[in-house]
Amino acid sequence: MNYRHAFHAGNHADVLKHIVLLALLEALKRKDTPFFVLDTHAGRGQYLLQGEEAGKTGEAQGGIFRLFVLHGLPALVQRYLKRVQADNPVGALVNYPGSPLIAAQAMREQDRLAACELQAEEARALAALFRQDERVGVHQRDGYGAMKALLPPKEKRGLVLIDPPFEAQEAEFDAVLAALKEALARWPTGIYALWYPIKQRRTLNPFFRKAAHLPCKSSLFIELLVRPDESPLRLNGSGLLVLNPPYQLDEELAPVLPVLARLLGEDRASARLEWLKRENG
Ligand code: SAM
Repeated sequence: MNYRHAFHAGNHADVLKHIVLLALLEALKRKDTPFFVLDTHAGRGQYLLQGEEAGKTGEAQGGIFRLFVLHGLPALVQRYLKRVQADNPVGALVNYPGSPLIAAQAMREQDRLAACELQAEEARALAALFRQDERVGVHQRDGYGAMKALLPPKEKRGLVLIDPPFEAQEAEFDAVLAALKEALARWPTGIYALWYPIKQRRTLNPFFRKAAHLPCKSSLFIELLVRPDESPLRLNGSGLLVLNPPYQLDEELAPVLPVLARLLGEDRASARLEWLKRENG
């Protein structure tokens, strides 16, 4: 496995993913009862934006750096930026928080996070980051195996974030769909959020057709294309497929997506939010 998230941290895809993640966590916090988060592909939890890897690609320049200095953005985006600011106490944007850190920061005392990461070096960094946080368990293991082993959680409510590197392309989509089908059989009421890359969107049609048959109550997808999806070689955009989305997630994200497309996109950038399956629909 060659994938290193440090090359991509803070890019447009991370911004979209982490804003949706925050919205999901905030929805879970509307009730006092504890919830569980499983981050199946957690990464190292924190990335140096000025480091060798991120510096080489410059991807964060088209992502978090464009938003960080702005004011007057939709409230959800402002709250996401606050999370990023909390990771940069001196003020300048140096660190970027990964999904497990964003989750842990948003969680309360009673909530619990299991963060899985397969690569030894990344998992070591992740374990060091959460050394003193008893709410967080770090597991160096396969995230799909963890979905079998750790679901359903004792809290009975919560979220599974699935953010694979997609090095295996088509095979990864099949692995995710199989894992989701099994997980839903074991834990039908969980919220599941799957991140996916968009190069040419039409190549995703088979995935959407299969995803529409997953045995969940409802599902929607949320996408941000920073440029038209004409080039098969570039990450032109990304999306999240959310199964069993919380009430009003669509309404909360609707005003955010056009703003992200305008601020992070090039010419002809676009965003969409569509239901794949609606409850009673
Ligand atoms: N979720 C992270 C975030 O938003 O900050 C980024 C995760 S990155 C896209 C994918 C991570 O999955 C990489 O760190 C990679 O080492 C790890 N990985 C790859 N295959 C895995 C597997 N089968 N199980 C768990 N982790 C895996």
